[in-house]
Amino acid sequence: MNLTEYDISHPYQAVVSSSERITPESTDEVRHITLNIASATFNYLEGQSIGVLVPGPHEFGNEYHMRLYSIASSRQGEGQNMSEISLCVRRCFYIDEVSGEKHPGVASNYLCDLKPGAKIDIVGPYGRQFLAPKDPESHLLMIGVGTGIAPFRAFLKHIYNERGDWKGKVRLFYGARTGMDKLYFNDKNDDLVNYYDEGTFKAIEAFSLRPHFDDPADLATAVKVHAAEVWEMLLADKSYVYIAGLSSLEAQMDEVLSEMAGSPEAWQDKKQDLIDEHRWSTLFYG
Ligand SMILES: Cc1cc2nc3c(=O)[nH]c(=O)nc-3n(C[C@H](O)[C@H](O)[C@H](O)COP(=O)(O)OP(=O)(O)OC[C@H]3O[C@@H](n4cnc5c(N)ncnc54)[C@H](O)[C@@H]3O)c2cc1C
Repeated sequence: MNLTEYDISHPYQAVVSSSERITPESTDEVRHITLNIASATFNYLEGQSIGVLVPGPHEFGNEYHMRLYSIASSRQGEGQNMSEISLCVRRCFYIDEVSGEKHPGVASNYLCDLKPGAKIDIVGPYGRQFLAPKDPESHLLMIGVGTGIAPFRAFLKHIYNERGDWKGKVRLFYGARTGMDKLYFNDKNDDLVNYYDEGTFKAIEAFSLRPHFDDPADLATAVKVHAAEVWEMLLADKSYVYIAGLSSLEAQMDEVLSEMAGSPEAWQDKKQDLIDEHRWSTLFYG
C-alpha cells in the first residue's frame, strides 16, 4: 500500500521512555526506542507496524512526513508493560547520486535524535498480513535481515514468554553485516539469547561483508546449509514462512528454494500454495 493511502487522521501521542543504541559505535547506529502510549485504545498484535508522524514543514509543503516502523514488542507491551511499545530504528542516510552529498533520512534521524520525555505523534497500528498463527503446533520459519528482526522479536516474546505452550519448530535465519551488527543478539542487547534454551527454537546467523547494513547478507547460503530441515518444514502442513527486511531477500530465497524444489516452476507452485493458504508472509522496507 502506498504511504499516502494510510489513514493518519487519528494520531496518538506517545512519550519517549528510553532510547538506547544497540550497536557499537564502530558500526551503523541502530536504536531500541521505547515509547509510552498511555492510551487504552491502542491495541496491536505482533508483526504490526506504527506510523511515525514527523512534524513539518517538509519538502513539497507536506504537513507530516510519515514512515512505518515495526513494533518490536509483543501484545502485552514492552517488558510486560501494556502502556509501552518498542521500535528498532536504524539511522538512515542517503547519498545524492548527482551531488554526492550525504543527506539524513527524515523520520529515522528524527526518531534516533529523540530524548526521553519527548512527545511524538504516531498512527496505526497497521498491517494484519504478518501475524503469527494461533496453533502452538505450527512451525515458524522466520527469515530476516537488519531491523527486519523487530517483528520476530515480538513473535518470540509472545510465543515463548506469554503463551509458553509452543510446540512447533521455530527457526530464525538472521542476516547482518558482521557479528557486531546483530540486533538483540550482541553484547549491547542480547534479549533474544534467552530463547536459545527453548527446545523448539534455533537461530541461524549469516554475515555479509557487503557495504550496506541491510543487505541480505549470506542468508541464501545459510538456508542452503540447512536445506533438508528447511524443506521438511516447508512440506509440513502447519508451517508458516515470514520474510522481513529488504525486498531483494525474496529473490534470493526464490533462487535457493527453487534449487530445493527441483526447478523454479516447482518452487513457484509450492510458493503459490503457501500464499493461497496464508502461510507465506513478507514485510519489505524497500
Ligand atoms: C512495513 C514497514 C516496516 C518498517 N519497519 C522498520 C523498522 O522496524 N525499523 C527501521 O529502521 N525501518 C523500518 N522501515 C523503514 C522505514 O519506514 C523508513 O523507510 C526508513 O526509516 C527511512 O525513512 P526516513 O524518513 O529516515 O528516510 P526518507 O527521508 O524517507 O528517505 C527515504 C528515501 O528517500 C530517498 N532520499 C531521501 N533523502 C534523499 C536525499 N537527500 N538524496 C537522495 N535520496 C534521498 C532515498 O532514496 C530513500 O530511499 C519499515 C518500512 C516498512 C514499509
